[in-house]
Amino acid sequence: MMQRLIDWLAEPRAPHHVLTWYRRSRRYQDLPRPGSSRAPVSLVLSFDVEQDPEPPFDHHRCETCPPFLEWLDVVAGQLGWRTTLFVQGSIVDRLGPSLRRLRSSHELGLHGYFHELWGRRLWFAPYAAAPPRWLRRALLEEGIRAFERNGLPRPRAFRAPNLVCDDTTLDLLVDAGFEIDSSVAAYRGAEPVVARRGRLTRVPVSASPRPVFHRWRGTPIPSWAPYRTLNLQLFLTPSVDTLVETIDEILAVQGQAGSPRHLVVLAHPWEFADVPLAGCTRGNYNRLIERVRMLGDRLPLEVVPLGKVAGQVEVGA
Ligand SMILES: [Zn+2]
Repeated sequence: MMQRLIDWLAEPRAPHHVLTWYRRSRRYQDLPRPGSSRAPVSLVLSFDVEQDPEPPFDHHRCETCPPFLEWLDVVAGQLGWRTTLFVQGSIVDRLGPSLRRLRSSHELGLHGYFHELWGRRLWFAPYAAAPPRWLRRALLEEGIRAFERNGLPRPRAFRAPNLVCDDTTLDLLVDAGFEIDSSVAAYRGAEPVVARRGRLTRVPVSASPRPVFHRWRGTPIPSWAPYRTLNLQLFLTPSVDTLVETIDEILAVQGQAGSPRHLVVLAHPWEFADVPLAGCTRGNYNRLIERVRMLGDRLPLEVVPLGKVAGQVEVGA
């Protein structure tokens, strides 16, 4: 209960942080236009490969994953995409053969073990608290063993489920030999820049740090201020202008911060399945190809794994 209360109080999108909304809004309102820079932009297509999101919930059930991985193998081969897959530890055994086919041209990281939280409880979701330190350490080791057992390279990248990750987890990641973390809570307005934390390089899912003001039922009363995050829903939005504006803001913030030019998109295999959840459909396969092609006409894109972006920031920098 206490953790959830603290999480609500710290929630930057909520109206008790309205002064921060205005401050941030001012800070990011006059971002320079990225203009016509032809410097390459790394596009990281990252997929959280995890248990099915629908009942019956089972940490080993992942029926939406094999068709997606098969599609990715074929299409990425044809288009030259090299993507990043964060795989939930408990389903690595089931997906072993598919993952082995992808290992040479895609990056394989770890997405928790049972899709648990790795930090403070969320005020808006009923997930259990993060396991204690000793158990988190054991879950990381178990995940690494699952990779090794299936003939996959030891994972060096990690993304916490629901982007919930605390300092204890970050220390444990370093102890377990991880080098890259992508768990920053982008949807809460983190800047879309690559940062170093000791031996870890942190590359967030990309989001614009400019809050979008929502007002209560047409009144001037501020109600909520989300941040546009490059999840699949936004990446495939019919409103191309919204997407382009978000990307321009992300690239401008990176330009100001001297961070590599990159876009990290977050998606899940189940979003490419005909499951009764908003926006999920097999039609997303072709939409994703089309969208990457369309952006490629506007920007000098390279579809690369997350590690390539992390590698652009020097160790110790
Ligand atoms: Zn997940």
